[in-house]
Amino acid sequence: MDDRIVVLGTGGTIAGGSALAGDNVGYRAGERTVQSLLDGLVVAGGPQAPALVAEEVAQIDSKDADAAFWSRLHARCLAHLQDERVRGIVVTHGTDTLEETAWLLSQTLACDKPLVLTCAMRPATAVSPDGPQNLRDAIALASDARALGVSVVCAGAVHAPRHLQKMSPYRVDAFASGDAGPIGWVEEGRLRLVHPWPGLRSDPGSLAQALAADNGAWPWVEIVLSGAGANGRQVEALVAAGVRGIVVAGTGNGTLHHALETALLRAQRAGVQVRVSTRCPLGVVVGMPAHGLPLADGLSPVKARISLMLELMQTAPAP
Ligand code: ASP
Repeated sequence: MDDRIVVLGTGGTIAGGSALAGDNVGYRAGERTVQSLLDGLVVAGGPQAPALVAEEVAQIDSKDADAAFWSRLHARCLAHLQDERVRGIVVTHGTDTLEETAWLLSQTLACDKPLVLTCAMRPATAVSPDGPQNLRDAIALASDARALGVSVVCAGAVHAPRHLQKMSPYRVDAFASGDAGPIGWVEEGRLRLVHPWPGLRSDPGSLAQALAADNGAWPWVEIVLSGAGANGRQVEALVAAGVRGIVVAGTGNGTLHHALETALLRAQRAGVQVRVSTRCPLGVVVGMPAHGLPLADGLSPVKARISLMLELMQTAPAP
């Protein structure tokens, strides 16, 4: 029986290159093919190791990820999940929007195999690149039957999509999972769990269908920020331009500047879906703030935006 791990390349710093060897910041993301990242990589398992099959899905800097990219990646993951020869999937991805892609895939794929995203903070041309070790860890994780569903590994730490957040623009250990902490660690090719593996989403069917049918034309949802001096002008402009959803990154416990709050309540009355998240990187909004606008289910603003887009995909726009 065939036993393979599919490695889907999407670009990012892990595939980045710099003209100046050793430059960790002055490089272009997405310059190397995913096959070249695998060439010469020593993976655990010796002769028993699964075969690695490389496939290029995109060559982008993940800051430029968009709906068309997500639709394509989703479709390729779906195809490989349905292939009985495939034991697990690894996706190499830029760090900038990694948490968004991981959240999207976790919400839209019925994943009864490991699907592991990984990345790097230093380009492949760095003196000491972190990509090769991250890729080795991801392949080890994708071979582990305990790792069902979508997870992310970076700098040895294994994160769940719900909690993962990029915390540093420079450090190799760039991600954290807030209060929850990592699910576990990959150490010398072995997974050490420190929390039970998170349950799988049981009903992604209608979301997956909506995504597949959508051809990259996603409902328009924006994020606005509340803070000192905030006002309602941005919200008014968005509503006038036809936005369908607004996620607001509120202050503290989901509170909003009164001027912004007034504009958001007006937007809601006009049929725009509003969700309230918080600017705080730790914890969730507790209780119900006085404004009464719906909360974002404990999600960060960027993940709340994805959830609202998926929700709106299943709802026809107001006439
Ligand atoms: N801009 C890069 C990207 O997200 C950053 C990285 O991969 O670390 O593709």
